Amino acid sequence: MKAEKLRSLLFPSLVGALSVGMALLPQLVSNTYELRIWMLLTIYALVALGLNILVGLTGLVSLGQAGLFAIGAYVAAILAAKLGIGFVATIVIAMIVAALFGALLAYPTVRVKGVYLAVITIAFGIIVENVAIEWQGMTGGTNGISAIPGPAFLGKALDDTGYFYLLAVLFLAAYVLHYNIMKSRFGRAMRAVSQSEIAARSMGINPIAIRTFSFVIAAAFAGMAGGLYAYLNLYVNPDTFRFDDSVRFLLMVILGGSGTIVGPVLGATVLTFLPEYLQAFGEWQRFAYGALLALVMFCLPLGVVGTLSNLRGRFRASVSRASEEWPRLSTRINTMLQVDAQRGAVCLKTKGLTMAFGGLVANDNVSEVLRAGQVHAVIGPNGAGKSTFINCVSGFYAPTGGEIEFLGVSATRKVSHELARMGLARTFQNTELFGNMTVLENVLVGYHTRFESGLLSTLFRMPSFFRDEKRFQEEAQVLLEYVGLAGFADELAKNLPFGHQRRLEIARALALSPKLLLLDEPAAGLTHGEIESLSGLIRDLAARHMTMILVEHHVDMIMAVSDHVTVLDYGKVIASGPVAEVRNNPAVIEAYFGSSKSHEDPEPALEVRS
Ligand code: ADP
Ligand code: MG
Repeated sequence: MKAEKLRSLLFPSLVGALSVGMALLPQLVSNTYELRIWMLLTIYALVALGLNILVGLTGLVSLGQAGLFAIGAYVAAILAAKLGIGFVATIVIAMIVAALFGALLAYPTVRVKGVYLAVITIAFGIIVENVAIEWQGMTGGTNGISAIPGPAFLGKALDDTGYFYLLAVLFLAAYVLHYNIMKSRFGRAMRAVSQSEIAARSMGINPIAIRTFSFVIAAAFAGMAGGLYAYLNLYVNPDTFRFDDSVRFLLMVILGGSGTIVGPVLGATVLTFLPEYLQAFGEWQRFAYGALLALVMFCLPLGVVGTLSNLRGRFRASVSRASEEWPRLSTRINTMLQVDAQRGAVCLKTKGLTMAFGGLVANDNVSEVLRAGQVHAVIGPNGAGKSTFINCVSGFYAPTGGEIEFLGVSATRKVSHELARMGLARTFQNTELFGNMTVLENVLVGYHTRFESGLLSTLFRMPSFFRDEKRFQEEAQVLLEYVGLAGFADELAKNLPFGHQRRLEIARALALSPKLLLLDEPAAGLTHGEIESLSGLIRDLAARHMTMILVEHHVDMIMAVSDHVTVLDYGKVIASGPVAEVRNNPAVIEAYFGSSKSHEDPEPALEVRS
């Protein structure tokens, strides 16, 4: 707790130190030329901060930021020089126009990511540059636009020092907003989407919305920076907005350490000043620049800040590793896991549900009813279509036939994040965690949709933001205790042993406060002892009347907790009914144990055919 207090003071102290430094800077520099480089730095740092959200959090690479920067600069130049619009309005409009283009650039992410997206952003940069050259009537072609009136604020013209202070204030404000986004549920959602899109969707997060939001922020920052740049030079032409510049913006983020708080500012500083110092190399300047970058990235692959904090993590004392008893009950968990559904009411209904993959029918005409408060087991050999059923019901697959109803409304055409928001939570057969986030953060992502504080209260850290954060951090901790992971809260999820990862996934699903919980082979890969505890957990949830679909191979577990069993074989339901009835069904015995074996086979696993 003490370390946390200290950590929370880190950023305010950093901003304080930067403020003091920037306030003193005009007295410290020896000439206007030097001051102008510092001004350039604040402008570039703005671009880098925006890009850090896009690259570092959401994991999307843009090589078109110079295009957005250019749009901001040209909009500002045209408004100021041709229409005589004032400084503040000009900058705001530049930001908005760039943000709109950012939203446009986000659209391709619906279909493409990675390298392909990078190519689209490069194309965007080329288009902007070309328009700037060819649309002479508006942009002045290669001559550009001059005669931009100098910046004025509150009716007063700003000299170099005045403009520097204005830039410094804007930079600090942007820095704080950047931090507020990063350390919020939105920042967590961005990282979640980049680390496991399907897990993020199962937590009610819409990846398209998150990616668009990131692009818009990055574009707004770049557009604002472009506008401010136009007022710094009082002249814009196509030369300053080339592909080279896009590369440099991206390098600032990556070199400093993408996704870190200090990284982009450090990267911007190095890459703004480095070319000045490298002038000593004469014609070899660009060679030295390239060689230095290559060397730094080779030695510090996560960027300067990223690599250093990684090192620190390695030396950090490991938290309690003792295995904890679980499930651990508490009064708090009792109130949190209270189920308010009317017991016996229809929770989920499928009618003729069919899912065909080409010629293979993985779910064939499945009609099932699940009532609130019941545990519904779905069993069957490997490849029978159990996971497909889960995926259809949770909106990850669009069924090729039939209908699904969830809580009385048609869910046939609803997608995963919509269903999650309605209270459908799930785990995955192959565990899907946000590996590079801490155990606590993983659970907090599960709370994303339950926050009441919106974007504005998050950006400006209003009381409702702190209230929500505090409440859900506490609740997440209680859920971790429940599954016996309280001592691992600060550990990265990817460093957890396999069995712990499964428990974490269940805790995260419970964060949604589910009306229906789907568990797809939760015991797969667990040790005997872990399976015991897991059975205990599922039995506890069942005793609370949590409505569940349980896909499992472990007969003991199924017999112990289920109210109803559905047996799938080659996609078809071959039996469905109360446990006692199904276990004596000849078709089930045939499908499972072969005709020679009886159901009293001592083997605990049902899985015979593969
Ligand atoms: P189970 O979970 O019961 O082991 P699955 O639902 O995973 O079975 O798979 C049922 C059948 O559907 C298998 O033959 C599998 O290969 C096929 N299948 C599942 N998902 C897909 C997919 N996305 N594309 C093509 N075939 C799939
Ligand atoms: Mg499966």
